[in-house]
Amino acid sequence: MLTYRDIATALYDLQLPADVPMLIHSKQADMGEVRGGSATIFSALNSVAKRLVFPAFTPATQVIPLDGPLNNGVRYGDGDNGNGDAVVFHSSLSAEAGAGQLADDFRLLPGVHRSNHPIYSFCGLDVDAAILSQTLADPLAPLAALYQAKGWVIHFGTDFTESTFIHYIERLAGRRQFTRWARVGDCIVACPNMPGCSRGFIPAENWLETTIRSVSLNGSRIRAYPMNLVTHMLKTRLEQDPLALLCEEPGCAPCSAIRLDYGVESN
Ligand SMILES: [Zn+2]
Repeated sequence: MLTYRDIATALYDLQLPADVPMLIHSKQADMGEVRGGSATIFSALNSVAKRLVFPAFTPATQVIPLDGPLNNGVRYGDGDNGNGDAVVFHSSLSAEAGAGQLADDFRLLPGVHRSNHPIYSFCGLDVDAAILSQTLADPLAPLAALYQAKGWVIHFGTDFTESTFIHYIERLAGRRQFTRWARVGDCIVACPNMPGCSRGFIPAENWLETTIRSVSLNGSRIRAYPMNLVTHMLKTRLEQDPLALLCEEPGCAPCSAIRLDYGVESN
C-alpha cells in the first residue's frame, strides 16, 4: 500500500519548479491502494505545488441535434437514443468517471473553484484567474492562462490520451475546433470551439521524450512536462504535419472532419 512518503518522495524526485501551476491528469486506480486515499495524494501534491488544476469534464450533459454546422465532427441525429439521458449541468455535477476519482475528490476540497462550462469545466486551487478566464466561446482559456503562467502537466499513471493540454496546442496550430451542445437548465446551449479526439495522442510521448520527467511508483509512472517547451515542440510538429496525432479508429467523426479539411477521406 502506498504511503504519503512514497508519493511525496516520487513527486520530489521529479524536481518540479516551485510556485508554478500544475495541471493534473490522474487515474488513481493505476497507482494501487493509497493509505489515506485521495487526501494523502493531495497532501503529497501540496508538498511540491500549491496551485493545482484538474479537468472536471461532464460529457454526460451533451445532446446531438438533428442538424448543425458542416464538417463538425458529429453525426447529426445520432442523439435520438441518448439525448433523453443527457443530464443538466450544474456546478456540483460529478466529473466524468474517466477523469478518475482523484479529480472528482479534488472538486470537493475547501478552496477549490470550478469554472461553469457545461461540458469542459476545470477545478482549480489558487488559480482563480485561470478558472475565471473560461467562457462558453473559449473553453480552452484556462489552459492558455496556465501556459502563460509557465505551468506544468503531471500525469499520474495516465497515458497521453488523457492530455487535455495537447488540445490547446492543437488549437494554437490551427486545427479545426467543433461545436457541441449541452443541457443547461431548461435550455440547450451551443458550445463552440471545442476540441476533438485525443485517442491519437500516444505518439507525442516519444516525440517529447527529452522533455518528459518520469518516476516509477508502485509499477505505475508519474510523468511531468513543462507546458511552454512542449507547446513549442508539438505546435511545430503539427504545423509541419496537420494530420499528426489523429486517431485511426474507423468512423471517428472528429478525426475524419480534420482529415477532410486537408482533402483526405477517412475509411
Ligand atoms: Zn479520433
